[in-house]
Amino acid sequence: MVDFIIVGRGLAATVMAHSLHQQHLSFKLIGPHAETNSSLVAGGIWNPIVFKRLTKSWLANDLVPELNRFYSACEKDLGQTLLCQRSLVKPFVEEQEKALWTKKATGELSDFLDPKIYTETSEQFVNCKISNAYGAVKQSGNINMAAFINGSAEFFKSSYHNELVDHSLLTIEEDHVSYKGLKAKNILFCEGYLVKNNPYFNWIPLKPAKGEVFTIESNDLKLNNCIFNKNGFLMDLGNKRYKVGATYAWDDLTEEPTEAGASELHNKLKQLISCDYTLIKHAAGIRPSSIDRRPIIGAHPQYKNLFIFNGLGTKGVMLAPYFAKNFVNFYLEKESIHEEANVKRFYKNYAATQSS
Ligand SMILES: Cc1cc2nc3c(=O)[nH]c(=O)nc-3n(C[C@H](O)[C@H](O)[C@H](O)COP(=O)(O)OP(=O)(O)OC[C@H]3O[C@@H](n4cnc5c(N)ncnc54)[C@H](O)[C@@H]3O)c2cc1C
Repeated sequence: MVDFIIVGRGLAATVMAHSLHQQHLSFKLIGPHAETNSSLVAGGIWNPIVFKRLTKSWLANDLVPELNRFYSACEKDLGQTLLCQRSLVKPFVEEQEKALWTKKATGELSDFLDPKIYTETSEQFVNCKISNAYGAVKQSGNINMAAFINGSAEFFKSSYHNELVDHSLLTIEEDHVSYKGLKAKNILFCEGYLVKNNPYFNWIPLKPAKGEVFTIESNDLKLNNCIFNKNGFLMDLGNKRYKVGATYAWDDLTEEPTEAGASELHNKLKQLISCDYTLIKHAAGIRPSSIDRRPIIGAHPQYKNLFIFNGLGTKGVMLAPYFAKNFVNFYLEKESIHEEANVKRFYKNYAATQSS
């Protein structure tokens, strides 16, 4: 009997697999191999700054060190480079933004903002629309999501089952669960927005957001390994390829890319660059955002061996390592789940389904 069955094969499930493994807990992971899911479509970017208000992202001082520790450890296991540290470049539109940037970079945001106001752009960036000056975020970058998710599937090969879980075949006993002959002490659901199909956790209030991205090719762009952020992002993938994103839609939750998404991305590109490009790929995914923008982690209110790890929303890369560690420590009875991320805040929704 293993300690956990993990359901899912996206970022949440993969980070949980490594986190359990690092604590010598055994698991079997059940999830279909897919060319796309939210995790494989994602830019994989982490950004400790909220540009809208020029403030620190929630728990950034805890999340960033943990993501560096976690993905570095995974790099060693997988024998692949996953972490790419690079500056996020933020052009200033209005003159007063510079003063605010300097104030924050020399004060409360000194860990994450480079205090320099950059004005010379010609050599660093070619055909990027930076008309005024720009600032640079420190301690930002991206994870190679495909290498992480597919490399982990290879690394944990004997523990992976390539299929979709049929919840009706799950049996729950006092001290274990069984699924198609597989016995585990616990089951952990990391199903992203598809948790809506899970009869044990379909009361979780997600507010999923569809997102679309482009991969483009251009001979005439130079980004100097940075991530350019201007009402969207443009990220250098190497070999003259760039990822462009992302759109947000809440009313269409189909998994296919749309014409409306394509037109929005072409418009974003018009604001970002001033050269021609060739569209290589257009992809879509559904972000599992929660209604209060916090992760959703913990035990089922009735079945103590059923757990959920979800609600990673728009910031899964940053959130997952810290909260996977929090979950494992909770399971090992070393700490409690962070109050704002604890699924307990939604137990009332479950209670409502039981009384109706
Ligand atoms: C366009 C776009 C851009 C993004 N960019 C970024 C970014 O730059 N940085 C960032 O941090 N985040 C980004 N995100 C968000 C990020 O993708 C998510 O936070 C994260 O990937 C969610 O991971 P997840 O594993 O919870 O969900 P998913 O990736 O959706 O994975 C869910 C998994 O569960 C599986 N599953 C579902 N039901 C079952 C079942 N019954 N049985 C077995 N398996 C099941 C699915 O097949 C899938 O493998 C972006 C998202 C989108 C859409």
